[in-house]
Amino acid sequence: MQPPPLKDDCFAMPPGVDWTPVDTALAQLRDRLHAVTETETVPLAQAGGRILAEDVNAKRSSPPYANSAVDGYGLAHGGLPEGGICVMPLSDGRAAAGEPVEGELPVGQAVRILTGARLPDGVDTVVLEEDCSVESGRIAFRSGLRRGANTRKAGEDVAEGAMVLPAGRQLLPQDLALLASVGVAEIPVRRRLRVAVLSTGDEVLDIAAGPARDAQIFDANRPMLLHLLRLWGYDTVDLGHVRDNPETVRAAFDKGAAQADAIITSGGASAGDEDHVSAVLKAQGDLQNWRIAMKPGRPLALALWDGVPVFGLPGNPVAALVCTLVFARPALGVLAGAGWLSPQGFSVPAAFAKSKKAGRREYLRARIRDGRAEVYHSEGSGRISGLSWAEGLVELGDEARDIAQGDPVTFYPYGAFGL
Ligand code: AMP
Ligand code: MG
Repeated sequence: MQPPPLKDDCFAMPPGVDWTPVDTALAQLRDRLHAVTETETVPLAQAGGRILAEDVNAKRSSPPYANSAVDGYGLAHGGLPEGGICVMPLSDGRAAAGEPVEGELPVGQAVRILTGARLPDGVDTVVLEEDCSVESGRIAFRSGLRRGANTRKAGEDVAEGAMVLPAGRQLLPQDLALLASVGVAEIPVRRRLRVAVLSTGDEVLDIAAGPARDAQIFDANRPMLLHLLRLWGYDTVDLGHVRDNPETVRAAFDKGAAQADAIITSGGASAGDEDHVSAVLKAQGDLQNWRIAMKPGRPLALALWDGVPVFGLPGNPVAALVCTLVFARPALGVLAGAGWLSPQGFSVPAAFAKSKKAGRREYLRARIRDGRAEVYHSEGSGRISGLSWAEGLVELGDEARDIAQGDPVTFYPYGAFGL
C-alpha cells in the first residue's frame, strides 16, 4: 500500500478539485439574485429597521423657516453702524420657538428672540444675549457682527424636494429623525424577507429536547442563525432539525421553499457519505458552487430549490457563522431589496504573527485592543467560545502572506456585518 504523504492540513486544496475563490462565488451570487419582496407603506413609527422600497424626497424643507440658533436679539444687519458700540432700542414682543412675532421689525431696532424661534420679518441677524448689555429698553453690543450671524437658514439642512434617503436603505434610528424632520409620515418599505433555518445531522439535538445522550451534541447553529436573521430585520421560519436522511432533508426543503424566500441549512454540506444536504441539492436542487476556497468553511452549498435560494452551511458553528456573514448576508440583502451589502473594514496593525498559504481566504476571530488586532488563540473551527471572545474578523486575502507583528491587516468589526 502507498498512502499519500501527510499533509496535516484539512483545508489544503485537494488536487483535481475545482475550488471556487470567495470573490468568484460572491460575484455569481450577486449576478443571479434579485429582490423578491413586495412594497408596502407603513407609518414612520413602524419603519425602523425596514428597507426603503423607493427613494424618499423631502416633503418640506428642514428647517422649514429661518430661525435663531441662540437666545439673543434679532435685528437687521443693514441698520448696524460700521464700528464702535451699537445701541438699539428694543421693540415690544418676544419671538420664541412656536410663538412667532408678527409684523416687520423696523431697521435700527432689535427684538428679543429665543433659540428655534422663526426670524421675524426684517430680521436677518441675531446677537448673542451674552454679548449684550440691556438697560431701560435698549441693548448695547460691540460691532463686528457678520450678516446672518447666529441664524439658521430655511432649508439649510435639506431643501424641499431633495432626495434624503435612497431605495434599499435599511432605516436606522437617525433616519427616522431625518424623515420626520422633512415631513415624511408614510414610508414605502419592502415586505420583510422570510428566511427558513434548518439544522441537519444524526448527532444533533435541539437544546430544548435534552438531556443529550453520549454521542449527541446540542444544536448550536439554529439559535444563532435565527437570532442573527432577526437582527438583520428578517422574519424567520424555524424548520427545526432533521436527521441525515435524503427523504427528511427533501421534505424540509419543500416546506422551507413553500414558506420562505430563502433557506439556510447547516451540516451535511460536504461530499461525505452522510452529507445528504449536498447530495440532495446536487440531485435535485441546481447546485451552483460547493467548494469555496475559504477557511473556515470550505463546504458551502449554494443552490436553488424550487427557485428558492438555499445556503448550505458547514456544520461547524464557527464556519457556519463566518459563511453566513460573508455569503448569506449580502445575498439576503439583495433578496430583501437592500442591495448587495459589502462590509466596510479597516486596516490595523496585527498583534499577532502568522504564515498563511496561498489559494484560500481566511477569516480569524479577532478583536481590537490598544489599536491592534488580536486573534483568538485557536483557529479550530469547533472553538465556538472564540466567536464570543471575538469582536469581529480579520480577513486575510487569497494570496500567501507572512504576517509579522505590526503589519497591517483588515479588520471587520461584527457591526460591519450588522450584528
Ligand atoms: P458537517 O458539516 O455535517 O460535516 O458537520 C461538521 C461539524 O459540525 C461536526 O462536528 C458536527 O457535529 C458539527 N455540527 C453540525 N451541525 C451542528 C449544529 N447544528 N450545531 C453544532 N454543531 C454542529
Ligand atoms: Mg454531518
